[in-house]
Amino acid sequence: MALFSEDHTLETFRRGRVEVICGSMFSGKTEELIRRLKRANFAKQKVEIFKPSMDVRYSDNEVVSHDKSMINSTPVDSSSSILLLASDVDVVGIDEAQFFDKGLVEVCNELANGGIRVIVAGLDMDYQGKPFGPIPHLCAIADEVSKVHAICVKCGQLALFSHRTVLCDKQVLLGETERYEPLCRKCFLKALDKQSQLKET
Ligand SMILES: [Zn+2]
Repeated sequence: MALFSEDHTLETFRRGRVEVICGSMFSGKTEELIRRLKRANFAKQKVEIFKPSMDVRYSDNEVVSHDKSMINSTPVDSSSSILLLASDVDVVGIDEAQFFDKGLVEVCNELANGGIRVIVAGLDMDYQGKPFGPIPHLCAIADEVSKVHAICVKCGQLALFSHRTVLCDKQVLLGETERYEPLCRKCFLKALDKQSQLKET
């Protein structure tokens, strides 16, 4: 069974819907978002991509994934700006959606109700394994949710957690390979145990 649907009608008809691509860090969320947006682009659909303006890891105007494939995007301060900027498009892509405000849920609904295909990518859990920002609510209202996985760096199982390898209690700490590693459930629990022991001593 294919992991993702190859429904060609997505690119041939204008159809309002919400698609969520979620998972841990290094799970290929952005790559999958870009893959879908490129296909829509090839089909001559008008595509706009937005990301939170705080996510300026590599570049200001591009959605950049870890493998450096990129596509132009617009950084916005709040979810309501997306409504204003996306009036005349067929497909809206939103990357790093976990950093947006809760209003993003209503924004995505409104866009989809108006006939726009909305594809949202984001982390479903923070470094503690807690639901992250508007992503859980987006999963609830989505037409389709794709949960993608990384590979656990300890044991090779599918990973669903983004374990922070440095001690810091802020929910948002930008950084990639030097600060996070993908872990499966078993290895994540083990790592948390080890860290709490470290904190006590
Ligand atoms: Zn593991």
